[in-house]
Amino acid sequence: MPDRTPILAANWKMHKTIEETERFLAEFLPKLPEPGPEVVICPPFPSLKSAVEHCAQSRARVAAQNMHEEPEGAFTGEVSAPMLLELGVDGVVLGHSERRQYFGESDEALARKLPAALRAGLEPILCVGENETQRDSDETEGILTRQIEADLADVPEDNLGEVVIAYEPIWAIGTGRTATPEQAQEACELIRGLIESRSGGAAVAIRILYGGSVKPGNAAELIGLPDVDGALVGGASLDPGDFAAIVDAAT
Ligand code: PEP
Repeated sequence: MPDRTPILAANWKMHKTIEETERFLAEFLPKLPEPGPEVVICPPFPSLKSAVEHCAQSRARVAAQNMHEEPEGAFTGEVSAPMLLELGVDGVVLGHSERRQYFGESDEALARKLPAALRAGLEPILCVGENETQRDSDETEGILTRQIEADLADVPEDNLGEVVIAYEPIWAIGTGRTATPEQAQEACELIRGLIESRSGGAAVAIRILYGGSVKPGNAAELIGLPDVDGALVGGASLDPGDFAAIVDAAT
């Protein structure tokens, strides 16, 4: 079994004020197992600084939920990698299906964002996944192949293993429907195979997460799959007890 440290990432989406972030961390951080998997908290932009400060004495790291590919410029409402670094942020979620669906995030933009994040020293968590219609019409393999090839096209082979990929079937996000272990393993194995076609070393090193209605009750089975190296958790990560139980399931 390759030695890949699991990652549990909490995607809070547009939830939690600064005060709520601090309350969550005060309850959650003391529950972190030592040693244990990597834990990444992804709060909204306004809470990043406070989250970094509160996580500083713990093993938890902090990531943003989006980033613009340019370091600065006339891009109203956007935030750049240097701005995130200045806050002490370690990583960034890129290509979440909600950003693709509601904010027009394209594979072309992601192909620019991925190398920009890596150049800046941020760990990117790239989200990919098919919708229900695509799964029902057997397009999952084609969709994942297109997204992985397009989004990572300009990431040099030497850096591929530093990317984290989250397989998130859109029909499982926030719906309470979870992919079966077979579906999750098949998709993550496919993704690892696509990385292998570019770099054998990166395929061994790269962490591939599953995301989609992960809960304390199903986390251990999903995270235990051979090609699943952790989870990106939305709804269940908003509760410190539930997220701690999911972290425990990977420990
Ligand atoms: C997500 O937001 O990436 C996610 C997987 O959400 P949930 O766990 O609520 O399905």
